[in-house]
Amino acid sequence: MSSLKTDLFIDGAYAPAASGRRFATVNPATGETIAEVAEAGKADLDRAVASARKAFESGPWAAMKPRQRGRILTRAAELLLSRADEFGNLETQDNGKPIFEAAKIDMPAAAECLSYFGEYADKLYGDTYPPRPDAFLMTMREPVGVVGAITPWNFPLLQAMWKIAPALALGNAVVLKPASATPLTALLFAELLTEAGLPPGAFQVVPGPGPVVGQAMAEHPGIDKISFTGETETGKAILRAAAGTVKRVSMELGGKSPNVVFADADLDQAVFGAVSGIFAATGQTCIAGSRLLVQDSIYDSFVEKLVGVARTARMGDPMDPATQVGPVTTPPQFAKVLEYIDVARQEGATLLLGGQRGNAPECGGGWFVQPTIFGDVRNDMRIAQEEVFGPVLSIIRFKDEEDALRIANDVRFGLAAAVWTSDIGRALRMSEKLQAGTVWVNTYRAISYLAPFGGYKDSGLGRENGIDAIREYLQVKSVWINSGAVAGNPFVMR
Ligand code: NDP
Repeated sequence: MSSLKTDLFIDGAYAPAASGRRFATVNPATGETIAEVAEAGKADLDRAVASARKAFESGPWAAMKPRQRGRILTRAAELLLSRADEFGNLETQDNGKPIFEAAKIDMPAAAECLSYFGEYADKLYGDTYPPRPDAFLMTMREPVGVVGAITPWNFPLLQAMWKIAPALALGNAVVLKPASATPLTALLFAELLTEAGLPPGAFQVVPGPGPVVGQAMAEHPGIDKISFTGETETGKAILRAAAGTVKRVSMELGGKSPNVVFADADLDQAVFGAVSGIFAATGQTCIAGSRLLVQDSIYDSFVEKLVGVARTARMGDPMDPATQVGPVTTPPQFAKVLEYIDVARQEGATLLLGGQRGNAPECGGGWFVQPTIFGDVRNDMRIAQEEVFGPVLSIIRFKDEEDALRIANDVRFGLAAAVWTSDIGRALRMSEKLQAGTVWVNTYRAISYLAPFGGYKDSGLGRENGIDAIREYLQVKSVWINSGAVAGNPFVMR
């Protein structure tokens, strides 16, 4: 096991911040400080961007054959897989998510993403076109340059990987600002990439406050593209800051996803889907199925079953492999979740489960919130419209397919949606009409490096994963080659 990495990673080496400042990162299950991490400021960012520009424009990274680039990434993927438990342990301490999820799901998924894009590095082609008899036209696809990645705390390394892997595979250089709450796995990953052969400057990590370092990244003339995941309002601030340098941006933002259960569904499966949709990762996922729409005719029996299963969720020490629900990751998030529980009560929703701070003895001083379910929610309530980002489920009734669709789409977000039904025609109709970047039928939370992922409406811009992610990190250039005679008249362009 490597020692904890707590300095910035710039130009292939760890170094303290120019200001000497450090900030604490805390274990959400215990409230104890894990480490004091170097806090980047603008001077450190400038250094990181200069190193990234150099790597992109000259030196070994710029000169490397795509195949070699890809081999570095696939080697890094193997190393990550072989150290999944070590990285998973660190993620669990920093983020609070159950260890089985961090080590057995997130880390293998991050490694898969890395190897998928690594294998793509030398499979990038341009096109040729027949514009006219006396000319050739071809397209070249080129990396955009220096990519600034700004990531959240809910899937710290996995979400960073969705950006790092395609960006590096295509020859870009990356400056990553991880969430201040969870910087540790990104810092350790920088060492792993170096071990796999990544040359200095291709990847840097600059933890620091979003409004300082993140904002400066969005404004920085040396950064060509920002790839952001986080809150919609932060995304809008980044869009405004990036406008000054006409940067390319892609954004994966918030969600309030409808999980729609029709009476003709396999109801036992749908109950499991509803529980995992909202309580996995303690509800701190942008794709959380936080609005459960249940058809009138089965509402009472379905809700009873659901509450019965949710009640068995094991909340506790996230390092225990049997734990299913861990703490909320940060104190502000903890306060926000409890506040929304109050809001739901005041709005007249019926509390069916939970609704309190986690109080089991093993919950100690951590920021635990009981899995919470509200029934009789109306879609115009704040609890049905605003992203809580915690283990809080709102259940809404609907009459028929038309009603379900109207309620499902009546929200400003559009990240994900699910339909539970045994009617294939209905499944297809709903898939077509739901306004969401991902639609699941008779399942929830299926995610893969292969599947384009992103949002409609206020849930984002662009796509991550799959071939669609490649386009986010490339420029396309058209090259015309005149193969005919020199034009006789200089005022007539052809
Ligand atoms: P933020 O959007 O504030 O943070 C995400 C990232 O952006 C972090 O690295 C953060 O840095 C950085 N950041 C913050 N402010 C700025 C800024 N002005 N310019 C550039 N970068 C900035 O989300 P939070 O982590 O604060 O979570 C708040 C809410 O966001 C949650 O309650 C949830 O609703 C939503 N959220 C959604 C996620 C998703 O996957 N869609 C993921 C996480 C949160 P720093 O950590 O230093 O603040």
